[in-house]
Amino acid sequence: MPLSDVLYQDAAIDRLQRALSSSRVPHAYLFTGPNGVGKELLASRLAQLLLCTGNVADAGPSLFGGGDAEPAPQDSGLKSQDSCNTCTDCILFAAGNHPDYHRIHRTLNKMHPDKAVQKRKAIDLGVDVVRHFVLERIMLHPSRGNAKVFIIVEADRLSIQAQNALLKTLEEPPGHSYLILLAATPDELLATTRSRCQHIALGTLPDHFIAERLQHERQLTPVDTAFLVQLAQGSLGTALRFADMGIHQRIGEILGACKAAVEDPLGAGKALAELAKELASNSKEAVDAGEEGDTNAAREAQALVLSIVGTVLRDVQRVVVGSPPLARPNEPLIATLAARCTTRPLADSIRALSLAEYQIEKNANAGLIFDTVGIAMNRAFSSAIGV
Ligand SMILES: [Zn+2]
Repeated sequence: MPLSDVLYQDAAIDRLQRALSSSRVPHAYLFTGPNGVGKELLASRLAQLLLCTGNVADAGPSLFGGGDAEPAPQDSGLKSQDSCNTCTDCILFAAGNHPDYHRIHRTLNKMHPDKAVQKRKAIDLGVDVVRHFVLERIMLHPSRGNAKVFIIVEADRLSIQAQNALLKTLEEPPGHSYLILLAATPDELLATTRSRCQHIALGTLPDHFIAERLQHERQLTPVDTAFLVQLAQGSLGTALRFADMGIHQRIGEILGACKAAVEDPLGAGKALAELAKELASNSKEAVDAGEEGDTNAAREAQALVLSIVGTVLRDVQRVVVGSPPLARPNEPLIATLAARCTTRPLADSIRALSLAEYQIEKNANAGLIFDTVGIAMNRAFSSAIGV
């Protein structure tokens, strides 16, 4: 599949294509960008291209496998910038069975031979996983002769110890091997890790594209689509995940809590905290069902509820300054709330949400945080009423 299949990431694709056409593909890449904008898709397209033997200028007798193949030259030796989709490597890759493709993620600890490692909570991507699944394997010759590709997802969760263990390999990966680290931002990685990788930043996706995909793939109504597009803030992956979680069906409860904040700020805070609890228990069930999910379900759900409140408050703010609402275009409550607000207290309430998000990351008491949000909304919604 061509790299250009990854839509709206032209700058990133352009840089990869230039490297491919010069046959000097860096052996360690760092792809950054918000979750759900195509980092892993782009990395897997690049991986297939690197593994494809239908594309190699002189693959020789190793074309159809044989573990005794001679190592290929250091450069990628690619003839074109698309994988062929027909060679055995491409077929194995598409089936998810290519022996030289390694997808590294934090929950691989469950497959680790050491029982103590298996039992650990996979909050970060630890050194045991990196040693066993990357460092030990990267030293071996490719099973099929062309390349070995390691994609490290959520590389921003690599522990410091794991990053230090990787340094030497990132600096001088064995010939044939490629590492592609994926991270939301480069900031969480050690400077020593960042400096050993070629950094490619992916941007957010346009709203109209996310809207099209939501309507096409999830058959959502225009109203639900508009809401999820605003909530996802440029991430298709997030929008699809929220659609699957049925988040668009919960907006009524959030609007109810916002409305309640007019009279009863603490009641509003409590309602929001309860909704977060319920969403967390739903997502815990998904994790228990074997998905590669987050172990911090409670914090994720609290942050999600705050983001939904944020879409409502931003719509109210748009109406206050004379623009149409984006997330809930036909919702009468938005205009009702806007009529009660002046801009500064409303901006303060939106800032209170950012502060609340930060506090949630620091594991502060959720009940208190949502109380504060309720109170901030109450102030905003009383500011034009002369209370
Ligand atoms: Zn191929």
